[in-house]
Amino acid sequence: MAVTESRSPDDLGFDPDGLRDKYRAERSKRLRADGNDQYTEVAGEFSRFVDDPYIEAEVERAPLTDEVDVVVIGGGFGGLLMGARLHEAGIDDVRLIEKAGDFGGTWYWNRYPGAMCDVESYVYMPLLEELDYIPSQKYSHAPEILAHSAAIARHYGLYDNACLQTEVTELRWVESDQRWLVATNRGDAMSARYVVMANGPLHRPKLPGIDGIETFKGHSFHTSRWDYDYTGGDPDGNLTGLANKRVAVIGTGATAVQCVPHLGAAAEHLYVFQRTPSSIDIRANRETDPEWAESLGEGWQRERMENFNSLVSGIPQAEDLVNDGWTDIIGKMLAMLRSDGDMSPGGIAETMELADFEKMEEIRSRVDEIIDDSGVAESLKPYYRQFCKRPCFHDDYLKTFNRPNVELVDTDGRGVERITQRGVVVDGVEYEVDCIVFATGFEVGTGYSRRAGYEIVGRDDLTLSDKWADGVRTLHGIASQGFPNCFIMSQTQGALAVNYPHMLNELAMHLSYILGEALPSGATVEVTAEAEQEWVETIISSARQRGDFFENCTPGYYNNEGQPTGRAVQNGPHGGGPVAFWKILSNWRDEGSFEGLTMTRAGTPAG
Ligand code: NDP
Repeated sequence: MAVTESRSPDDLGFDPDGLRDKYRAERSKRLRADGNDQYTEVAGEFSRFVDDPYIEAEVERAPLTDEVDVVVIGGGFGGLLMGARLHEAGIDDVRLIEKAGDFGGTWYWNRYPGAMCDVESYVYMPLLEELDYIPSQKYSHAPEILAHSAAIARHYGLYDNACLQTEVTELRWVESDQRWLVATNRGDAMSARYVVMANGPLHRPKLPGIDGIETFKGHSFHTSRWDYDYTGGDPDGNLTGLANKRVAVIGTGATAVQCVPHLGAAAEHLYVFQRTPSSIDIRANRETDPEWAESLGEGWQRERMENFNSLVSGIPQAEDLVNDGWTDIIGKMLAMLRSDGDMSPGGIAETMELADFEKMEEIRSRVDEIIDDSGVAESLKPYYRQFCKRPCFHDDYLKTFNRPNVELVDTDGRGVERITQRGVVVDGVEYEVDCIVFATGFEVGTGYSRRAGYEIVGRDDLTLSDKWADGVRTLHGIASQGFPNCFIMSQTQGALAVNYPHMLNELAMHLSYILGEALPSGATVEVTAEAEQEWVETIISSARQRGDFFENCTPGYYNNEGQPTGRAVQNGPHGGGPVAFWKILSNWRDEGSFEGLTMTRAGTPAG
């Protein structure tokens, strides 16, 4: 018997039909025909928003025209893991190229006050066992993660041949050399037999295309380039420069949730402009227990990562090692599923929906418990399914709205109406401010080359932008036909994991396996047209496994701003989730024939 038939709203404590209606109504307020086009490029007068404010001294060096075995583009966790796994595979003629002043990627750029990892640091921070390092807290703060990134680079000797403060401007395949020519903004023209692109998923800040955004005469910046010269303080907070300032923050996603408590504590007056509230669960951060750390045996991190990934992918495990808000969400769903007993596809879907309602009711009642003003509380309640947006966990965010100097401006799903010389307008009311902080996130659905910041020109002068104009085409998300020896680290046509570095680690190991085979003979590796076509079809058909979940979600970057069909499906991850996708990769490696790739050694196709 279906759960809704066996339990009345009184038994459940909520009315599923009423909630479904409410979710639909909230979603429809937010749907917009312009989808992703509502955002504007950070360019022109806003290009200062992407300058590097953290460089202490500009590196001076002559342009490079040398040759290396492998160029890795990007010095975030993707590039670092790639460098580490290549080193372990005995491949050391590797050059990491990074536009920032140091390694760290997202943790180099995102230094806003309160920044911390939202997935447990013992599974989030890569290579802990390899570096014999235990994070100081269950959820580490950004400076510790940034320091760990530099430690990884030192441990694997990745600084030695690195090009920091260097931005790739073009990759061009040179057929006669069977190599890539890598051009940069420093006049480099290096040659590389293999290239790995680890550009990062949320890398290019985006701005909403709000009318008048360019007219604001006060101060403004994006959270990923926090302006401590203006705010004072540091990543721990203490933003003393804001004591006499009226500040607006636009956006209430995962970033805003972490920095708003610090802005609220420091600003004379803070306006938080909200379009969609985030779901805010308990964080309960704590110091690492030294006895627990001491007790960890060999292989503990991999075991913990896999346990976490399985649980958040909905696969029951004998034990919940991480045991936090992430695994609790799934645990509740699985418990309900077990007690209900209806394991038909329809029954499972219905039970999952009910468990989701129950969880979100808990999130909404937490808002009521914490927020003093009932009107403000209502505005802060999220009405959508838990995984429509990245769930947030914080113990001070909601409380901030009880402060007398903090005001939530609820735009009721419409977003900010206009920006003027003096401030921000919603519902015809102008909120005068001295500073606007854009917590508006990063480009997700735009073209790969635009986000990467450089074009990739493959065989016969074909660009990757042209090749993918009608949708991404790859084998396993890692390579595309016509672009030999060029590899991609991304979730597109691969795995979208809650714990992103886990996914990067799987890819780094997979690519090291391929390069370990190809490099000794200098083979040229290329995806076959048939394998690519088959994978594109697999991706499209696997999307059905997600059902219509994202179609019914409130808009956001998880569902291509409310347009999760057509090309967005092709450009999405494998619908089976990370566990299924990584199994495909490991089976492929175990099979051992490099199926779908050609490896051409000195003109001899070797299959
Ligand atoms: P998001 O894209 O999640 O949030 C952007 C915010 O800006 C949303 O609240 C959005 O509203 C709002 N917005 C956009 N346009 C307008 C407008 N016109 N008017 C008003 N509001 C607007 O970006 P974040 O930087 O917060 O987070 C991005 C991702 O980075 C996270 O999902 C997470 O994956 C990652 N992250 C991870 C952290 C970690 O600890 N590991 C910490 C912080 C971020 P709406 O929701 O309606 O679109």
